[in-house]
Amino acid sequence: MQTNRYHIVLADYNLPQWTGMEALQVLRSQNLDTPLILVTGSLGEERAVECLKQGATDYVLKDRISRLPLAVRRALEEKRLRQEHREAEADLAQKVKELARSNAELEQLAYVASHDLQEPLRMVSSYTQLLAKRYQGRLDSDADKFIAYAVDGANRMQRLIQDLLAYSRVGKVQKELLEISSEAALQNALKNLSQVISESGAVITHDPLPPLVIDEMHLTQLFQNLVGNAIKYHGPETPCIHIFSTKKDKELTLSVRDNGIGIAAQYFERIFVMFQRLHARDEFSGTGIGLAISKKIVERYGGRISVQSESGKGSTFSFSLPEQ
Ligand code: ADP
Repeated sequence: MQTNRYHIVLADYNLPQWTGMEALQVLRSQNLDTPLILVTGSLGEERAVECLKQGATDYVLKDRISRLPLAVRRALEEKRLRQEHREAEADLAQKVKELARSNAELEQLAYVASHDLQEPLRMVSSYTQLLAKRYQGRLDSDADKFIAYAVDGANRMQRLIQDLLAYSRVGKVQKELLEISSEAALQNALKNLSQVISESGAVITHDPLPPLVIDEMHLTQLFQNLVGNAIKYHGPETPCIHIFSTKKDKELTLSVRDNGIGIAAQYFERIFVMFQRLHARDEFSGTGIGLAISKKIVERYGGRISVQSESGKGSTFSFSLPEQ
């Protein structure tokens, strides 16, 4: 048995120089998936159960030998299924590995590309701005228009590249996570948004928020994206934004509620996809990356992000994080 590969072993329970159970041990120690059927004159029920427990596939009593072909067929079929299952699992494991590698490569590519594009773009941007400043009104009106388009394009590209860089950086920080104050992260985000807050007159309130185990920069960015959008996508009324938390089944949810233009239900999924926007650039500025970044951050911690809204009736964006 150690030197030959058998499809199946039919063995007596005990013969001189052979015991069925030892044969089983040999098969097992060699990691061989060879079915073993005991064909025996008599086998007490207890012993039969013991043999099956130890790994015998089946047993056939000699006075019921007509059952043997069926037992063999079944054992071989089961073996084939096990083999197929093993192959499918190995195949899946290989695919998961390849996917992880190709994802890491893509992320690296996005990071390097956006990082390295910043420098030449800064050059284009500063020189078009210089052109605009120095030659405004000194060439003809077409030239003024063209320079303004170039300045605007360079600015937009800069924002896009900064957002792309922020997106690809989400997976990069690997420091040890500590519990942090969500309220401090919210205050940081509001500080970063102070200009748009004062320009819009937005009223921002919040309930007490629980501490969370998350990178503080990530939570700040989440609040900044969600509160920033809540201000940007306001309706005719002054933006009123409330941040609150709920807890259910060991899952903490933080929500940002606004009284803005709202979102129709058919777009609830789409807005979290990179570059997906529901409005033209001249209506609302933006790159369409903010919610994709938010989703990536939340999913990195095993959480979920979603929106509840109705067109014209404000939106509530919520993200849940599993309790650590
Ligand atoms: P951006 O704001 O740069 O377009 P986001 O990824 O942050 O990109 O948002 C994607 C889209 O989701 C936005 O273009 C907008 O249409 C919609 N959206 C996001 N937040 C809100 C909100 N609070 N109210 C209404 N619409 C929103």
